[in-house]
Amino acid sequence: MFRKILIANRGEIACRVIATAKRLGIATVAVYSDADRAARHVALADEAVCIGTPPATESYLNPSAILAAVKATGAEAVHPGYGFLSENPDFAEAVAQAGAVFIGPPPQAIRAMGLKDAAKRLMIEAGVPVVPGYLGDDQDAAHLAEEAAKIGFPVLIKAVAGGGGKGMRRVDEAKDFAAALEGAKREAASSFGDDRVLIEKYLTQPRHIEIQVFADQSGSAVHLFERDCSLQRRHQKVIEEAPAPGMTPAIRAAMGTAAVTAAKAIGYVGAGTVEFIADASGGLSANGFFFMEMNTRLQVEHPVTEMITGQDLVEWQLRVAAGEPLPAAQEDLAIFGHAVEARLYAEDPAKGFLPAAGTLHHLRWPVDAPGLRIDTGVSEGDTITSFYDPMIAKVIAHGKDRAQALNRLAEALNTIEIAGPATNRRFLARLAGHDGFRRGEMDTGLIGRDLDALAAADAPTDALLALAALHAAGILDEPQGDDPWASLRGWRMWPGAAAMAHLETTAGARLEVPVAAQGRGQFRVTLPGGPVEAQAIHHDGRRVTADLDGAPTTVSRAAGRDWVTLFLGGAEATFILPDRLAMDAEGADAVAQVKAPLPGRVTAVNVADGDRVTKGQALLVLEAMKMEHTLTAGKPGRVTALSARTGAQVTEGQVLLVLDDEEEAET
Ligand code: ADP
Repeated sequence: MFRKILIANRGEIACRVIATAKRLGIATVAVYSDADRAARHVALADEAVCIGTPPATESYLNPSAILAAVKATGAEAVHPGYGFLSENPDFAEAVAQAGAVFIGPPPQAIRAMGLKDAAKRLMIEAGVPVVPGYLGDDQDAAHLAEEAAKIGFPVLIKAVAGGGGKGMRRVDEAKDFAAALEGAKREAASSFGDDRVLIEKYLTQPRHIEIQVFADQSGSAVHLFERDCSLQRRHQKVIEEAPAPGMTPAIRAAMGTAAVTAAKAIGYVGAGTVEFIADASGGLSANGFFFMEMNTRLQVEHPVTEMITGQDLVEWQLRVAAGEPLPAAQEDLAIFGHAVEARLYAEDPAKGFLPAAGTLHHLRWPVDAPGLRIDTGVSEGDTITSFYDPMIAKVIAHGKDRAQALNRLAEALNTIEIAGPATNRRFLARLAGHDGFRRGEMDTGLIGRDLDALAAADAPTDALLALAALHAAGILDEPQGDDPWASLRGWRMWPGAAAMAHLETTAGARLEVPVAAQGRGQFRVTLPGGPVEAQAIHHDGRRVTADLDGAPTTVSRAAGRDWVTLFLGGAEATFILPDRLAMDAEGADAVAQVKAPLPGRVTAVNVADGDRVTKGQALLVLEAMKMEHTLTAGKPGRVTALSARTGAQVTEGQVLLVLDDEEEAET
């Protein structure tokens, strides 16, 4: 076995690989970009090497920087994780040339599966069923249209070099074919530098079912059963599970055999996944599944397989790469219970799943939850940047059966507390409780059909609004004991006194909520929907309890100077406190420094050092999360310490320029 390995990746998968290596007594080397200096994977590894600047092309996608780190640390093998360089055959070759072991399949196996058309041809030769379609070299538009008509609409145009759903177009009628072909080719050319396409029969109610395979260097191969990844949004997996609902031993054996045949046909070694598409309209059948592609790496969703088989797939990868035989034979492998995984992302479902960024001010996972596994690459206080995939964690639940696994997943998703960037937590929790999904009646179109209900933002309930108003008025943190004068902080609420709480919702709505003291420790909060009487208010830091109109209510609270997030029974609401924001804005230091509010790229600098500016003048433009933000002067002054350059990447909170006081500028 290896003594030291390098993990050429970041985030949760780097942490995941490190965990197994540690258990096996293997030393680990992390690599990181400047943006990840304080990242969890760096802290967990025995050694860490900086490989470049934040853009992935300058670090995690830079083979020579990674190979230099391999040499410098004496790592004997390289685990590529998933994404980045994991399916890059040239990188696999370069690792070998550098004298280290690539923990993955041989380069020729990666190449064989790299192009969808070549892979499908290979599978046809090996006798593996494929989706009917056209795989030819004649890429003439008129010819492709003829082939599409022969296959019969609807058809799916796919980029042969495709991945991640790019260069893919569904065409329902012949008249739309030419335009769709043009779009697919354009996208394929710009994403992959290869505009060739293939055409497939489009299955109207498809299920995505994949088989985990493993092969060792002696040519033995097994499968570790299936995963169902049919819950997708725009061809991207959202929730995965194992085993697949409705699967029978006979169909499983047929699919498993086909997948092992596929692996053997290309001389596969290590962990791989053979993806099949099945027609869900008439239920699963032993001849109703077709090869789609093979992923020549460890998959994001491998934990569900680990949880139902009790095997550690990273350990299998390490053993196989070190030349050992497969840790188990086919007949030794069995399925225990059911597992389901949800991908928790910093993204805003209510805004079309726009990726979110920012600091994870507050991050709490469920404690002591049975059957629960959280794979994460972040800790509280870390920042999700726009440089990389905004995944926060994979939440994986195991149960004795599917219902228990789904209950545990829903419970976990309703208990997780995150304050900071927007997340898809609520969306996932709703999905875990979706009736059709619970009945196992799913296909890849399920999320799309119910998207509005699944992705909608919660309107804050009256209980959350009332508590947010009490927080904004400073009352939650006042001792509410018998002595109304015990408090020295803030303003005192004697009976009859009133205050106005200012709240702004994340949707941008501004609310003014009168809060009036009624008696000792009793308050009336006048919400738009009517008054709420609050009493018996207690807090022990994070937990706040109160009686609201006689109903005992407990929330969890995370708060900063000018924001508060409250969590209540799976719901959550974040409010900006505009008063305190204004207080900040009037504070001299806060306005003198112009900082990047988000990580992003400077697209315009309108001023130069020494320029005099007036309050409200546009200083520079930042592009963050695909939107432009104009940063304006919070006060008049003279521009100094201008560090922002057009085209530069900036991190959240970075000071871009400073406004010096200058009386005469105040015109
Ligand atoms: P990519 O490599 O771009 O991810 P895949 O070939 O793996 O593309 O397909 C991605 C997803 O697209 C599948 O999981 C499935 O939901 C859908 N899909 C692919 N082929 C078909 C098809 N022939 N009919 C219907 N849906 C399909």
